[in-house]
Amino acid sequence: MKKNVMCFALSMVLLALVSSCSTVQKPDVLSKQQNNMIATKSNTLFQNEKSDKQLLINKLVTAFADEWMAGYQYWMAARLVQGALRTDVIAELTQHYNDELRHADMIAKRLIELEGDFRMFPQDWHHIGGCHFDSITKSDVVTVLRENIKGEQCAIDFYQNLLVMVEGKDKESYDMVLSILHDEIEHKEDLEKLLKALPVHNNV
Ligand code: FE
Ligand code: FE
Ligand code: MG
Repeated sequence: MKKNVMCFALSMVLLALVSSCSTVQKPDVLSKQQNNMIATKSNTLFQNEKSDKQLLINKLVTAFADEWMAGYQYWMAARLVQGALRTDVIAELTQHYNDELRHADMIAKRLIELEGDFRMFPQDWHHIGGCHFDSITKSDVVTVLRENIKGEQCAIDFYQNLLVMVEGKDKESYDMVLSILHDEIEHKEDLEKLLKALPVHNNV
């Protein structure tokens, strides 16, 4: 009987020790979670949504490839374009080239903040990017303008969708995408104005 009481008392002591250990551990676990949440909030990311964050990274990597591809397309076109209003067209294409590379830079900076990996080579642009430009086989002003208008429309559609995706979830990405989207809309309008300004016989 005395032995049973001793055993019972010992079990109680052990139980108390185990439970006190587990209550000591709990705050550690909680504080780790809280730290993660604070880090997440300071980055203004999607909260508790790892898959959303990865999806955003993937979309920005696609956009990054497209910006380089668009920039390269403009750079090449500015050197090869032939036809009416050539000087004006070259000035516009060069301005757009600078904008596309600035966009690539903005996206790279955001990807670094999101810890996304955007390393790639130029040969990767085409299969990572979402907007597929035709190769520059014709350099007459009409073909060049039409090809780039198509590219801008693709960029506009892409950034409009991305804007909806981040709205209310990630303010930094939202502001960046909105700013890029404004530029892409302006690019398309500027190219359309040039196309309309061409002498009628050019614009067939
Ligand atoms: Fe762009
Ligand atoms: Fe553009
Ligand atoms: Mg412009």
